[in-house]
Amino acid sequence: MSDDRMLLASLPTPYFSEPLHVGRPNLGSRDRLIERIDGALERLWFTNDGPLVREFEARVAEFAEVRNCVAVSNATTGIQVAAKALGIGPGDEVIVPSFTWVATAHALDWIGAVPVFCELDEETGTADVAHVERLIGPRTRAILDVHVFGRPARIDELSKLAEEHGLPLLFDAAHAFGCTYRSKPIGGFGTAEIFSFQATKFVNSFEGGAIVTDDDELADRLRAMRHQGLNAAHEITGSGTVARMHEISAAMGLTSLEAADVFTEVNRRNYRLYENYLDGLPGVRVRPQQVGEQSNCQYVVIEVNATRAGLRRDELQAVLQGHNVLARAYFSPGCHSCEPYRSAPARHTPDPLPKVEALTERVLSLPTGMAVGPAEVEGVCRIIRAAVDGSAVPKADHSTGGDASCSHRP
Ligand SMILES: *Cc1c(COP(=O)(O)O)cnc(C)c1O
Repeated sequence: MSDDRMLLASLPTPYFSEPLHVGRPNLGSRDRLIERIDGALERLWFTNDGPLVREFEARVAEFAEVRNCVAVSNATTGIQVAAKALGIGPGDEVIVPSFTWVATAHALDWIGAVPVFCELDEETGTADVAHVERLIGPRTRAILDVHVFGRPARIDELSKLAEEHGLPLLFDAAHAFGCTYRSKPIGGFGTAEIFSFQATKFVNSFEGGAIVTDDDELADRLRAMRHQGLNAAHEITGSGTVARMHEISAAMGLTSLEAADVFTEVNRRNYRLYENYLDGLPGVRVRPQQVGEQSNCQYVVIEVNATRAGLRRDELQAVLQGHNVLARAYFSPGCHSCEPYRSAPARHTPDPLPKVEALTERVLSLPTGMAVGPAEVEGVCRIIRAAVDGSAVPKADHSTGGDASCSHRP
């Protein structure tokens, strides 16, 4: 991009007076939240399998149509507890995608397991199943794929492969709460799936997560392991950690879950608006959701083709930032290019990952969620169009602050 174009695109004054974020928390009914927190304070029951946590687990299990839900303090710990419950320990290899948030890999590394990175499938952005198969070796103990940006992994093919090799199959479903695969909710696939309810996620519990599984025996082990190895009878059955969810988190989780339909509606509307406003712009495309499936649409991710758009993703990100739009380059770089994995390629990245390298240079996550209304989406798209056209960004004709009609609904 020439300096002239850069200058034009970033002048005269920022389009938005307040920053627009990716992953601003969605808040449901504040009154319901405070009521629930008050209840916990009245009961003097703050943690250890309290009534709000139990209710949250029941609701999540119902929502995801899965037999067991084990709420945890966060998804990273959830992945660790799930891996440990499946007997994965130091030196054991787990095949994971490189194109994901680094938590997927770090969760394994932190318990001494060895993430081995696979190539991505261009259509879904999830694991390339043929490459996963090539990576299976004598030390492979599990496959852990990610439903990246809420787009389901190649679940059928992976399930078949895992079964053929007698390997457990886990899914990091941090992005996919409320999404479906073949019309069935994400949650009941593989050996277990792990949701994140961290504040920036679609449904949140401030910090939190859940391991969901149809395997009752595994669920019992997970429950014990998240609670210092104690079983339901309060006997110490083995080693464990503290990965419990507490009542205040569950209070938020329940409140957030009640508003999930509203969040989805707003996200879908924003998604469609982004698609419409960016339609036909050379070199910029919104990564599509799976046709015929439900999606929470919590991420709007564009791909910037530098040759066709005339500017690189980083340049577009800089222009947006100049207008107070804090777009994020999720996920760039790929995990295999992050430490500590980058320094040990023979251990973690036996094969080159050209598709990961290519996609990580093109992706950019745009602001959405309850804090982003139609006027904001239009503004972000005007800035993007101007940056690509090399024209001046028009002045904003709206004030910022989100879509009031949406953000105050229960
Ligand atoms: C957010 C996220 C996590 C981690 O979730 P926490 O609840 O913060 O531990 C894991 N994987 C992916 C893909 C995520 O986006």
